[in-house]
Order: sequence, then structure tokens, then C-alpha cells
Amino acid sequence: MTQKKLPEKGIKKDDVLSLMREMRSTDADWRNARTWSLVYFAGDEILETSKQAYTMFFSENGLNPMAFPSLKKFETEAVAMAASMLNGGPEAAGNLTSGGTESILLTVKTARDYGRSKNPGLKEPEMVLPITAHPSFEKAGHYFGVKPVHIPVRDDYRADIKAAAQAITRNTVLMVGSAACFPYGVVDPITEMAAIAKENNILFHTDACLGGFMLPFLKKLGHKIPDFDFSVPGVTSISADLHKYGYGAKGTSFIIHRTGELRKFQFYIYTDFPGGVYPSPTMTGTRPGGAMAAAWAVMHHLGEEGYLRLAQETMSVTEQLIAGINSIPGLKVMGKPDMTVFGFNSDRVNIYEMGDLMEARGWQLDRLQMPPALHVVVTPNHAKIIEPFLKDLRETAKQLEGKGKGNVEGMAAVYGMIGTLPDRNAAKSLVLEFMDDIYKAK
Ligand SMILES: *Cc1c(COP(=O)(O)O)cnc(C)c1O
Repeated sequence: MTQKKLPEKGIKKDDVLSLMREMRSTDADWRNARTWSLVYFAGDEILETSKQAYTMFFSENGLNPMAFPSLKKFETEAVAMAASMLNGGPEAAGNLTSGGTESILLTVKTARDYGRSKNPGLKEPEMVLPITAHPSFEKAGHYFGVKPVHIPVRDDYRADIKAAAQAITRNTVLMVGSAACFPYGVVDPITEMAAIAKENNILFHTDACLGGFMLPFLKKLGHKIPDFDFSVPGVTSISADLHKYGYGAKGTSFIIHRTGELRKFQFYIYTDFPGGVYPSPTMTGTRPGGAMAAAWAVMHHLGEEGYLRLAQETMSVTEQLIAGINSIPGLKVMGKPDMTVFGFNSDRVNIYEMGDLMEARGWQLDRLQMPPALHVVVTPNHAKIIEPFLKDLRETAKQLEGKGKGNVEGMAAVYGMIGTLPDRNAAKSLVLEFMDDIYKAK
């Protein structure tokens, strides 16, 4: 590892900040809508509202809500607004978390502890997961000792209901559906799956990390959106990320339970620490007050009217992109996306190679695997790049025409190889080496 030490003498504020501004020069260009999925940008007015609220409460700590009644108000009111948006009743209860992953870690922990409370002999709890469920469920299972039982998706990329019913055993504590799933932007058959969960007395989580702040507004705008929220009997919890389509600060998501009784299984309390009684609602200890302030600020700043307008704009860009991609010979959008996220692949060209060529033209596209595809998360900011983006897709498709799908090089070869290695442990080792390398100071 490169040895890097603390500078002997401190550097002046302005000099430190200007050094950092320079480092930005090679970062992904989200402002000009060259990225998809990492940054959700809906204009400077919204960004500034969130930013200034964050810095106003930059130092406050949400760990102790008694010390900072303002933070307590921000969190409880933001949760209440999110719960009502998701048709939660007066019993609904939740918390603000640091992101979708934390909301999902808490979901799995809640289900495990709830399952144990019903069945103290439960040794190996299980959860039923469609293969399209977000990896944070796998991570949660790994951390908390809950075994994932995978079920396939149908031809339309939605979870297979029959397989869901068959996957339940006496050890099952949780079933999961996505609204919508990250790879294809489709909503699982939540009504049917939650009914199966209810029948079997297990918890059901709707992962609306991606769709929580999009689907309710699309529905109000008249789009046909499958039911997914607390209006569906059997849905016991929902996660929704404010830092995606809620346009909140990074580090804000909601975990909401149907009742406060269920949320009790989420909390952690230690009463015997010499440092004091330690109640903790979420995974983290210290909780940034800025995130709570920014959440409250952006939700009030946008209001229903703002979210409706942004949902409408984003869906319109999505529809234009889908039509444009489907009109390029050899390219096809996968399934029928319910919202503003989708994958597309090709039966003619190597899609990963297309990803590389697009990257060389400055477009940062996510890669899907099994099957290989490229992936788009649309934001209002993408309105300005519809034509140039489609033009580059048309040109790269033409460039690759006739080359066939094999014999690829560059990153395309690496993605292709990892996706198709029959030995998944070997795939894991490969990625492990890569990670070890990437997190070194150079
Ligand atoms: C983004 C996402 C998550 C995880 O959220 P993070 O904020 O990245 O931790 C979970 N589920 C879905 C469907 C997502 O899109």
C-alpha cells in the first residue's frame, strides 16, 4: 500500500477545498445526465433546499431524540408523510435510515426476531426471495443468519407466484416482492404473494426502495400501477428510498411497518452498559441530524404537486427512450416496465461491447447479467439528452452490426466472463481480488 500520512502541518481551509475541487475533474458527469442510477438530480432548487437543510443541522445527532426535539419532529413527520403516501393506517410506524440497504437489513432482522417470537425453537429461519430481489436481502441473510430461498421470475420478469407458495417451509419467516425490481423496473405480483404470506402467518415485505416515491404518483397521474403498498392485505412492511426518486440527500430511506407492534422487533435495546441505557431504533449508533433535516425539507419543498410533476416528466422521458430504443434494429427493452427504470438487450450484437462503446462516448451505463443487458434509471435531468443518447445507441449498434456476439475484448470480456463462469465461487474470488485492489490508496 502507498504510505500516506497525515500532513505534518494542517492545510488552510481554502487550500484543502481547492485541492478537492481539482480531484473532481475526472468524476462521472451526472449534471450533464451522463450517468444513470447513481445520482437522482431534479434541478438546483431542490438540491439546494436539501443541501442547506442538511448543513443547518450538520452537527446535531439523531441518536438522542430527547436532546434535539427538532430532529425528532423531522423524523417522525417525514415517516408519517411517507406512510400516508403508501396507504399506511394510523397504526403504521417506521424510521428514517441511512439507505435502502439499512432499511432492508432491518426488515430481515425484524422478520427473524418476529419469527422467533412465534416459534422459539426456530433454528434456521428462511426467507423467500425472487431472484430479482435486491442483493441487500442476501447481505442481510448473510449478516443475520436467515437463509435465502430463491424463486424464479416468469417470462415477464415478475416473481413466479406458484414457486413462491411452494418455497414456504415451517422455517420461513419472510417473503419479499419488489415494487419495482431494480433490473427491469417491473412490480412483482404483490397482491397474490402477500396473500400467500398472510395465509402462512409470515411477514411480507414490499421493497419499494426504487418505486416508493415514483409509483404512488404515477398511479395518481392515471398510469396502470399494480397494487403494492399497505392497501394490500398481508403487506407488513415497506422500504422506500428518499435518496432515489424522493430527491433527498444521500443517506435517507424509510422503513415502515404496518403496526408499531411489528416495529418493536426492529429496535435494539441494551440496558446494562455502564455508559447508560442504550436504546437504538436502527442499525447505526450516531445518526446524522442533517439527513433528517434534509428529508423533512425536501418533502415539504416538493409536496404532492412537486412529486407529481417530476413523476410525469420522468415517465415522459422514459416513454421516449423506450420507443427510441425499440426502434433501433436489434435492440429491445426487456418486459413491460411499470416505471422509469428498464433493461435492454440485443439478439444481434454483444450488448456488453455496446456498453463499452457507449462508455467511450461518455455514457456510464449499468450492466445487467443473466441475461446480459444494459440498464437505465431515468431522471428528469435526462430530458435534455434523449436525442444525443439515442443517436449514440444507433451509431454503436451500426458499428457492431455484423460482428456477431462472440470474440469480445475490454471490459465487455470481463463482464461476459464473470456472468458465465459456471463456478460461482471462482467468480466471487475474482471480484474479491478486484475489490482488494480498488480500495488501496494509490
Ligand atoms: C437501491 C435499491 C436498494 C438498496 O438501496 P441503497 O440505498 O443502495 O442501499 C434496495 N432495493 C432496490 C429495489 C433498490 O433499487
